[in-house]
Amino acid sequence: MEHQTNVLVVGAGMGGVCAAARLAVAGQRPLLVERGPEVGGRASSFHKDGYVINTGAVAIEFGGVMEETFEYVGVPLELRCPEPANVFRVKGKTVNPAKGGWAFLLDKITKRGAKVLTQLGSARKGELPEDQVTLEQWIAGATSNETVHRLFRNLAAAIFAVNADEIPARAFLTYFTQKGAFRRFGFHPEGTVGVCRALAGVVEREGGQVWREAEVLRIHSADGRVTGATVRRGEEQVEVRCEAVVSNVGPVATIDLVGEDALDDAYVRSIRETARPTANIIIHVASDEPLLDTPGLILFSGTERVCNAGNMTALCPELAPEGKHLTVVYAVPRPAIGDFDEAREVELALQELREELPGMAGAEVLDVRVMRGDWPAQRAASGFELPRDTPLDGLWNVGDGVRDYGSGGTQSCAETAKDVVEELLGAEVAA
Ligand SMILES: Cc1cc2nc3c(=O)[nH]c(=O)nc-3n(C[C@H](O)[C@H](O)[C@H](O)COP(=O)(O)OP(=O)(O)OC[C@H]3O[C@@H](n4cnc5c(N)ncnc54)[C@H](O)[C@@H]3O)c2cc1C
Repeated sequence: MEHQTNVLVVGAGMGGVCAAARLAVAGQRPLLVERGPEVGGRASSFHKDGYVINTGAVAIEFGGVMEETFEYVGVPLELRCPEPANVFRVKGKTVNPAKGGWAFLLDKITKRGAKVLTQLGSARKGELPEDQVTLEQWIAGATSNETVHRLFRNLAAAIFAVNADEIPARAFLTYFTQKGAFRRFGFHPEGTVGVCRALAGVVEREGGQVWREAEVLRIHSADGRVTGATVRRGEEQVEVRCEAVVSNVGPVATIDLVGEDALDDAYVRSIRETARPTANIIIHVASDEPLLDTPGLILFSGTERVCNAGNMTALCPELAPEGKHLTVVYAVPRPAIGDFDEAREVELALQELREELPGMAGAEVLDVRVMRGDWPAQRAASGFELPRDTPLDGLWNVGDGVRDYGSGGTQSCAETAKDVVEELLGAEVAA
């Protein structure tokens, strides 16, 4: 079997669907190939016992390249926005910092938060710490208050899936002072897969193709540029000829698909040495009564594993059987980069959850998933982002492994897609 396309997109995660939709609208005829039964990757959803379980992302941000992508490709971004979007759980109480900001929040924790506020103020003015200062060291310079430390650790865990000693304070502060920082987001009523399905639909609407349950086995190249790929589609093996490849499987897996021999040694070595995937744990809980008293996300300040949780059915009751409630909880293991004892970390997270949320006593833990290794929380630890370009002409990477410094979440994947598509179109790939 043979197939001809101009651009092959490998993987329909958020970076892949954003890139394919943009390419399609720009007049290309992309072929989007996804190994799984559904699009979305770590921003997808599946059904279990009548509930919709998200594979990763739940909160999709407004006000950045993600929203711009939807406008550009001409489909609505159908999200339901919680109000308030973010609250904090401090000493057993829910605190909404919307009006008073950091000063109000810190005041609930300690009477000695002034130095933290001064440091945050300096960061807002662009005075950022040196790269080697971790977030933990940066907070320690301002306070020894344990709750403040846990609060910042849980912010780093919720956004970047790391502990406070695993992220440069500079990357963390860049995100909170220059990026959206999840101030405005929404949940999709079909589950996050609805966001990715909308973009995959654009590819088909514009004459491109989406192959689900199809796996790219090998990317081919000759004379320093990509020429095509071998794809397993159902029982068939298809030889795809193309001018360009956008890979959404992460730079390490892309090297494996291309083969080290086709790439220069320095590139291969640098990617393999720099790649630092991070880990987290997703816990879905079903209950008869809501476990949380807020419609958006709640960040914990008394925990060491569990970082945040979302009340999914407050705005999207269709995610659970009638009358039931669905809560998603995220925890980050110690360490989040490198090896850890999976069973122990899951148990510690569940224990904390039972202590934090009294409603857990009558609730059912529906699903527990540990994201690590080649199916991680983040493909690159913040501060260790990998390059989008490759030594092969016509081959680029998109997705969270190659996001901008100080960026995060699915928004960062949309940013990589926009950037790569602009470069690819500039390279005048034959239509
Ligand atoms: C638990 C958790 C919670 C998160 N919460 C949020 C959140 O609330 N908001 C937010 O914005 N972000 C969140 N994130 C981050 C976000 O989910 C990820 O950054 C983003 O989804 C990663 O997308 P990606 O473009 O890197 O692609 P990926 O999700 O890595 O997708 C890659 C795709 O490629 C496919 N594939 C792999 N190999 C092949 C092959 N050989 N052939 C064909 N297909 C292949 C895979 O099946 C997959 O679908 C969360 C992440 C996790 C893990």
